[in-house]
Amino acid sequence: MPESARNKGLLRAEQHHILLATTPVNYQLKRSAKRRSIGLQISGQGLVVSAPPAVSHIYIEALLKTKAGWILSKLQRWQTEAGNLEQVDLSAIDWLGQPKKLLIHTGPTRVTDDAIWLACKAGEETRALGKFMQAAAMQYFSARIEQLKPSISIRPISLHLSHAKTRWGSCSSAGAIRLNWRLMQAPPAVIDYVLIHELAHLRELNHSDRFWQIVASVCPNYKHHRQFLRQNGARYFAW
Ligand SMILES: [Zn+2]
Repeated sequence: MPESARNKGLLRAEQHHILLATTPVNYQLKRSAKRRSIGLQISGQGLVVSAPPAVSHIYIEALLKTKAGWILSKLQRWQTEAGNLEQVDLSAIDWLGQPKKLLIHTGPTRVTDDAIWLACKAGEETRALGKFMQAAAMQYFSARIEQLKPSISIRPISLHLSHAKTRWGSCSSAGAIRLNWRLMQAPPAVIDYVLIHELAHLRELNHSDRFWQIVASVCPNYKHHRQFLRQNGARYFAW
């Protein structure tokens, strides 16, 4: 019998790591002299394995593997229900031209220097990110339009978000400007170009030389920004 077995009543807890059906799982192993069998439990910390001191670690891990299906489904439910999916790295998303990691957490959704912290359940990342980006886009676009508009037109406009699959913006003869919310992923100078482009349509509802002269007067680098959208735009629609 191992030495620990003689320490009656002693409770040892160790952190371990195991691969269950290709899913990495952390678990806490509690050794208790009072236990007579191995117990599995999903608690506030995740998977907890309680075992008598004499049971070998190899035996315990073999048992965990035979119970992999049960453990993984319980863990998934626990994570979803409790919103416990902290720091699950999904992919990188651009935000105003800056690459951000997409992380899920339980607090409010926010943008930091290197990440977008999403408050949502597993599997709802795209919907949550879209909703957050739309709200941010409406605020950002309105503020920028207020600053850019006076140098282009004094006509009143109404601003709307667009969900178009291929267009960044549009402008109607009645002054309704629609801007694609996915543009929030582009660098600020590129967004400005799209806003200026649509505002210029308030004066020229076509793509004539006169139209491009108006755009160039406010945005001399417009050709560069158009090119940027042609080259990078597709990935803003990739999720
Ligand atoms: Zn146009």
